[in-house]
Amino acid sequence: MEQQVTLIKHPLIQHKLTIMRKVETSTAKFRSLLKEISLLLAYEVTRDLPLRSELIKTPMASMHAPTLAPEKKLVIVSIQRAGQGILDGMLELIPSARVGHIGLYRDPNTFIPIEYYFKVPQDIDKRNVVVVDPMLATGNSAVAAVERLKSTNPLSIKFICLLAAPEGLKHFCDIHPDVPIFTAAVDEKLDENGYIIPGLGDAGDRMFGTL
Ligand code: URA
Repeated sequence: MEQQVTLIKHPLIQHKLTIMRKVETSTAKFRSLLKEISLLLAYEVTRDLPLRSELIKTPMASMHAPTLAPEKKLVIVSIQRAGQGILDGMLELIPSARVGHIGLYRDPNTFIPIEYYFKVPQDIDKRNVVVVDPMLATGNSAVAAVERLKSTNPLSIKFICLLAAPEGLKHFCDIHPDVPIFTAAVDEKLDENGYIIPGLGDAGDRMFGTL
């Protein structure tokens, strides 16, 4: 499991995450911090994108310059509704990425995810997928989303979250050992309602002010 999970410890991410966790942080601040952190997460998750060389002219001379290989096209798939916050930040760094949406809600009693929406680009089988959801709690939604995406045959899948619980990480890694996970923190545990402790509360509610 350790090899599958990348903990992103960048000081800027850690500092911003601490502010997001604070109960007194406003909705507007929470949203803008999530966007900023997402830019930094996107930077990490795209670290291995291959480059090719292109002959260009600067005002001074010609040179062979690195450019992203065109066949490595990305789709960012947001698990609604909280995934929207990470999606917005990532799109700022990778504006040409395509976007998919998966609507899942968790049944409050069983925590089982129920799909109510699924829309991804038609050529997803020629693309690399990055799935985004700020909270990997029980892992049920993430597992279900990745399972659904695997049925569309993308070239690869990575999963990005902001916070993970050890229980969710284990569950996800047991079922999808081939999908790398990037997270900014692994917290202590889940409570009996499936919330991450200490966590930051309900990410969707904090982001959209629906508390
Ligand atoms: N979803 C959230 O938004 N917060 C949690 O702590 C767990 C799941």
